[in-house]
Amino acid sequence: DAVLANIKASITTIPDYPKAGIMFRDITSLIQNNQAFNQTIDCLVAQFQDQGYTKVLGAEARGFIFGAALAHRLNIGFIPARKPNKLPRETVSQEYQLEYGTDALHIHKDAVSSNDNVLVVDDLIATGGTIIAAINLVRQLGATVTDAAFVVALPDLGGEDKLTALNVKPFSLISFE
Ligand code: 5GP
Repeated sequence: DAVLANIKASITTIPDYPKAGIMFRDITSLIQNNQAFNQTIDCLVAQFQDQGYTKVLGAEARGFIFGAALAHRLNIGFIPARKPNKLPRETVSQEYQLEYGTDALHIHKDAVSSNDNVLVVDDLIATGGTIIAAINLVRQLGATVTDAAFVVALPDLGGEDKLTALNVKPFSLISFE
C-alpha cells in the first residue's frame, strides 16, 4: 500500500539512541511532513470512525499528538494520560515497569465513567507496558476498552500479544521487525 509505505518512509531510524543497541523510531519526521501526518490520521479515522467510541486516550507524550488529532476528527473528547504530578485535580494512577525502576500514568477521576467506550492511542507499542497502564486506568474507572491504536508496532517485543490476552485488540499502521 503506497500510503502506508509513504508513512513508513517518513519515520527516521536513529541507531544507538537513547543507548547502544536500540534502533529508535523517530516520529518527529513524520509529523513535520504534512502529507504523512494527514495520511496517518486519515488511516486511523478510517479504521475507528462510526464504531461507538466516546473518548480517545493518549499516552504522554507522543500519544497526545496522534490521539488528539484522531479525537478531533472523530468528534469525541480527548483524555491525556500523564506522568506523575502533572494533573491538577484528583487522579487515579497505574504503575508500570521500566527497564530500570517504575513509572506511572494518571488520569483525572472524572475523565471517563462507566458509560464510556475508550480508544487508547500511542505512537508506538514495544513491550506494551505503557499502553497496558493506560488500559488499566480506564478500566479502573469502570469504562470499556476494546481496542488500542498505534502508528508503529515493534512485534518482536511482544506487546501486542499481551494486549490480546487482556481482551484488547491491537491495531497498528506499520511495523518494524
Ligand atoms: P512500551 O511501553 O510498549 O515498552 O514502549 C512504548 C512507549 O515507549 C511508547 O510510549 C513510546 O512512545 C516509547 N517508545 C519506545 N521505543 C520507542 C521508539 O523507538 N520510538 C518512539 N517514537 N517511541 C518509543
